[in-house]
Amino acid sequence: MKFRVLTLFPDMFKGFIETSIIGRAIQNQYIEVDCTNIRDYTLDKHQKVDDSPFGGGSGMVMQVEPLKRALLSQPQKGHSHVIYLSPRGGTLTHDKVVELAQYEELVLVCGHYEGIDQRFIDTYVDEELSIGDYVLTGGELASMVLMDSVSRMVPGVLSNAESGVDESFASGLLEYPHYTRPQVYDEKEVPPVLLSGNHAEIDKWRLEQSLLLTKAKRPDLFKAYIQKEHPKSIQKIIKKCL
Ligand code: SAM
Repeated sequence: MKFRVLTLFPDMFKGFIETSIIGRAIQNQYIEVDCTNIRDYTLDKHQKVDDSPFGGGSGMVMQVEPLKRALLSQPQKGHSHVIYLSPRGGTLTHDKVVELAQYEELVLVCGHYEGIDQRFIDTYVDEELSIGDYVLTGGELASMVLMDSVSRMVPGVLSNAESGVDESFASGLLEYPHYTRPQVYDEKEVPPVLLSGNHAEIDKWRLEQSLLLTKAKRPDLFKAYIQKEHPKSIQKIIKKCL
């Protein structure tokens, strides 16, 4: 999976591509992150990439030409998809992350200032995506959120120990609580079932905790989950949590 990022601030990605799971995934060639500096593709002698908005108003708008030249500076690779990170886009969800992981290449366009000229979006962008209902100063952090979450779906990126199978959203529920050593901390004990060695009971407890947590914190997800078909063993646990 290749991520191609079009950005005015490639330095922001240094820590991201060198650290922890993402750094290792790049080293092991499960993923590739290529940052293109949009400013390198301006034809303006002062390397200007933006201008004031037609119709007036505050802020600056990124111009089409440098964005287009940056995008076309490399041929698109295989099954490719161009995304503009934008607060106006649909929200990035687990299902969307799974869908995006099927592409061979994702091109991520990072806006700055007031955003980018609509004509670039109309001509070159396949999809606009937002990471939440708030406004960032630029698309760089949003593109890192997207790359991080999509990379976890790429086979080989997570080791067995880091497997995402049980994680929140994968099953439609939030994940159960975790505990590690010490067994007692500030007089608070680890739930005894987790020390029992009885894996069937542990699985049941974890599902029950997931259901209760999801019901309390995300009633929308809980409602959708209980409306789905489930085997009898799971239905029994759901009943206890209603
Ligand atoms: N004027 C724009 C608006 O009101 O919709 C906001 C522009 S914002 C200051 C600058 C850039 O940050 C955007 O072009 C976009 O790339 C990025 N950005 C801001 N918030 C975002 C979000 N919630 N999700 C993804 N990208 C975001």
